[in-house]
Amino acid sequence: MTDSIKQQRHQARQQRLKTQVDAAVAAATTEKGLLLVITGNGKGKSTSGFGTVARAVGHGLSAAVVQFIKGSWDCGERNLLSQHGVQFAVMATGFTWDTQDKAADMAAAEHVWQQAEQFLSDAAIDLVLLDELTYMVSYHYLELERVERALINRPAGQHVVITGRACHRRLIELADTVSEVQNLKHAFDNGIKAQRGIDW
Ligand code: ATP
Ligand code: MG
Repeated sequence: MTDSIKQQRHQARQQRLKTQVDAAVAAATTEKGLLLVITGNGKGKSTSGFGTVARAVGHGLSAAVVQFIKGSWDCGERNLLSQHGVQFAVMATGFTWDTQDKAADMAAAEHVWQQAEQFLSDAAIDLVLLDELTYMVSYHYLELERVERALINRPAGQHVVITGRACHRRLIELADTVSEVQNLKHAFDNGIKAQRGIDW
């Protein structure tokens, strides 16, 4: 086959692809507040959630972040984004295996969830990140129905991102976009400790 025929075929294929992509883009006309879930065992869930907050803030949208479980840890994104008008609600407890005090964990979960409910009923907030929410449901710290209700009744245009491993199937059903981050390799498995600026 001559180079010129190869080139013509390549162009024809690209043109067909472009027509399909253009048609798909033209057909997607619905505007709505999205519910995104980033789950799975790989690294990158919270990074992705905070990246979405940075993206939204960069467009002048208003955002709020609720940090379940790891709220008391130092957090680069919180240091930065709180200087750019992002509101934070932080669960004032560490991992449950650090505190070993279930009643205190549940009280802390309840307290921060009430702040989450306020964000989820405030139409002035365009995006809410519920970082590590999935564990609150799987540990039964928060009632699933209550979480579902707050998500369903939120302002129509408000976007929400939920992160955490083992997301409950009912939250996955409720979501518009769900990504599962898979672990192919992690530095920690080779004895490398969590690195500031990369892991937190
Ligand atoms: P990140 O905050 O880096 O996006 P994540 O939200 O996907 O991570 P988490 O389960 O919240 O993952 O864990 C947070 C911390 O644990 C981070 O320091 C991260 O590097 C580390 N981590 C994430 N996945 C793994 C893994 N598969 N093995 C070991 N450590 C992990
Ligand atoms: Mg995380």
